[in-house]
Amino acid sequence: MKSAEDATARLLRSVSPADPADEVGCFAEASTPEIDAAVGRAREVFPAWRDAGFDDRATVLRRFRDIALARKEELAQLIAREMGKALWDARGESALVPAKVDVTLGAGMHAVETVSPAPGARATFHPRGVLAVLGPFNFPAHLPNGHIVPALATGNTVVFKPSELTPAVGARLGAWLREAGVPAGVFETVQGGGAAGEALATHAGVDGVLFTGSYAVGRALTEATLDQPGKLLALEMGGKNAVVVLEDADLELAVAETALSICATTGQRCSCASRVFVDAHRETEFTERLARVLEGVVVGPPLDEGTFMGPLVSRAAFDKVARFRAAEAIGDGERILSVEPGLPAPYVGAGLVRYASAEQTSAYQREEIFGPEAAIHPVGDLDEAIAAVNDSAYGLVASVFSASRTAYDHATGRIRTGLLNWNKGTIGASGLLPFGGRGKSGNDRPAGLAASIYCTVPQSHLENEATFDPASLPPGMPRP
Ligand code: NAD
Repeated sequence: MKSAEDATARLLRSVSPADPADEVGCFAEASTPEIDAAVGRAREVFPAWRDAGFDDRATVLRRFRDIALARKEELAQLIAREMGKALWDARGESALVPAKVDVTLGAGMHAVETVSPAPGARATFHPRGVLAVLGPFNFPAHLPNGHIVPALATGNTVVFKPSELTPAVGARLGAWLREAGVPAGVFETVQGGGAAGEALATHAGVDGVLFTGSYAVGRALTEATLDQPGKLLALEMGGKNAVVVLEDADLELAVAETALSICATTGQRCSCASRVFVDAHRETEFTERLARVLEGVVVGPPLDEGTFMGPLVSRAAFDKVARFRAAEAIGDGERILSVEPGLPAPYVGAGLVRYASAEQTSAYQREEIFGPEAAIHPVGDLDEAIAAVNDSAYGLVASVFSASRTAYDHATGRIRTGLLNWNKGTIGASGLLPFGGRGKSGNDRPAGLAASIYCTVPQSHLENEATFDPASLPPGMPRP
């Protein structure tokens, strides 16, 4: 099993969740003085990196892109081994790493270009300083990279702490950035768990924290930095994402996309669907078809080409899913599917629980499970579905399946999520769009294309090239 932190030896042993004999790597957890030193180096070189200019920074980042492109299979294999993501899925993630560089250096930088809306009025955008990037385990390369690349491109220096469950992937990203020519100090990696994350995030030398992870930790970070009001917090947090299937939906499409949204990354994506609201007339047919697909999903070792779902990331993650599967968590729902994968923990099969109405009171319906589980509810019409989707503390992604663009347009802006898709599942966002959620899912600092915005601070300028004009003086103000 994947180990958590070993506090005494201060070593992180990263073991594949698929094979206890496969030790992926062993990493020393950074001590407070080591974190201090990393932040110190990042502060020291910040002015030089800022002043190097965009073109020089872009050159280095393009070299990183080329390395990541050439070695994307190597990274996919490492992701699959270290956190159990099936190869097809890990390959998808590793391909996003070089793609992020192109998107950031192109469309991402347009968002922070100097604006000059009127003569004598200009706004320029400047790096914040030292940014801490705290990564999650579930996209151990793509999501930290989605913060690191815009942060570096806009002239910040970065101290990165990967998840303690994926230190090897984090170290690999750091090694490639260094190989590409990103100088020491401009990018630093510190390993460790929550304690290291907190020490880094609250460090007085850190100007901003770019965090991807759970609401609980995002909340803890907010609390821990309350007395550091100048510190930017960009929080990408959890989801309780919903699918709405209307009566006129293409049922085959809706079933296929919903199944994918429930099971991709073994349910361990912030964007995975875990609530489904189906028009009452189609609910039985939809649910039977969905259950048949989920029963057929191939669960197996992540490095096997035929595997769709690998194991969960850890025994602790498995135990958490098991707690949500217990009767007291499900409340008045009826368990209608529980696939047995025939493999030991932390492998899991998919599960479905049916509720008689759209009412959502149980932990299973309200909390993020982070496993391939979903609640199915009948709904009477679109407005009932919209209200049901919005009956959640989270607000990351929702999908509407309907033949009617008008119905989808009605949901747009009324469903309270950062992303709303039409006839597409909840997973698989575009890098060319903002990515962030509302409520417990985020703090209105969407990442994706919008990340370069919060990596900078605007400075507004009133500018005058003319000489003194006495006529400009207000009445009562003497001429100098
Ligand atoms: P997590 O919150 O447990 O950990 C995230 C990071 O925070 C890790 O690096 C961890 O070491 C660090 N950390 C833990 N305690 C800390 C503390 N007190 N102070 C500072 N740092 C601390 O999340 P996880 O289990 O790695 O990832 C899964 C979660 O991330 C899910 O909730 C998922 O929905 C969410 N997620 C969100 C997005 C998004 O874009 N919205 C994307 C991926 C994952």
